[in-house]
Amino acid sequence: MRWKSLFVAAFIAAIALSPICAQAQTNFKQLPVTVEAYVKPFPPLRIVGNLYYVGTYDLAVYLITTSAGNILINTGINNSVPMIRSNIETLGFKFSDIKLLLATHGHWDHVAGMAEIKRLTGARMLMHEDDAAMLEDGGNSDYRYPQGRGAVYEPVKVDQRLKEGDKVRLGSTELTVLHHPGHTKGATSFMFTTQDAGRTYRVLIVNMGSINPGVNVSGMPGYPNITEAYAQTFAKQKELKPEIWVSSHAGHFGLHEKYKPGDAYDPKRFIDPEGYRAKIERYEKLYRDQLQRERQG
Ligand code: ZN
Repeated sequence: MRWKSLFVAAFIAAIALSPICAQAQTNFKQLPVTVEAYVKPFPPLRIVGNLYYVGTYDLAVYLITTSAGNILINTGINNSVPMIRSNIETLGFKFSDIKLLLATHGHWDHVAGMAEIKRLTGARMLMHEDDAAMLEDGGNSDYRYPQGRGAVYEPVKVDQRLKEGDKVRLGSTELTVLHHPGHTKGATSFMFTTQDAGRTYRVLIVNMGSINPGVNVSGMPGYPNITEAYAQTFAKQKELKPEIWVSSHAGHFGLHEKYKPGDAYDPKRFIDPEGYRAKIERYEKLYRDQLQRERQG
């Protein structure tokens, strides 16, 4: 729709014209949005049971509803909070019912709205211990920039540091924390079960082992054991057997192939164990190929 592209264009222009944003206590320099799908709106949907997609066209944000309040995983970029809020309310839930905040990793395109959502809801922020420092300094301590890059989003205080195997509980929902480092030091996936129409589904919200530009998987000054981290993550991810899986980016798990706005609720469209296996193997191959190229040359 034309108005949507106009909206996105205006939004990108507004960000480009105001690179320095003063927030609560800390200055941060917001990165320019170069991928339109990061800010393009997308209508919210129910994926399975108590798991909902409330993100933008490509930046996945998940709401998990429980009888004791709701869990929000990821936020999109700095300015996505009104869109996420509106998506949650469109589904009939209250933004103020968010009690726990989680993230798949500490890059700005997944956590830059956390500080604002925390302020608006009073929710607690839980983050893997190896990405907690990055959240608290607004992305400054990213391993790609051993000297620091400056804050690129509003820093958010982490209330609880998570480790491999920890359980995050709210109401009758229990998420298992899976440490999948490489993409960042504290990259995390979450496994849980949910019920729908008398059936129980094993669901994985996975952080894929993708490799950002500028990263050498044979070794980074800011991340000396990156090679083993990626290798172990792929080995661990291949052992998981989710029935339904989703990821940090809609494009990673094929949201737009599996679902079109207006489609009826049907969790079966997201049952895709073979697609999961194939995607992990694809990222592992990219890693192995890049490692070989780096070592050869
Ligand atoms: Zn990332």
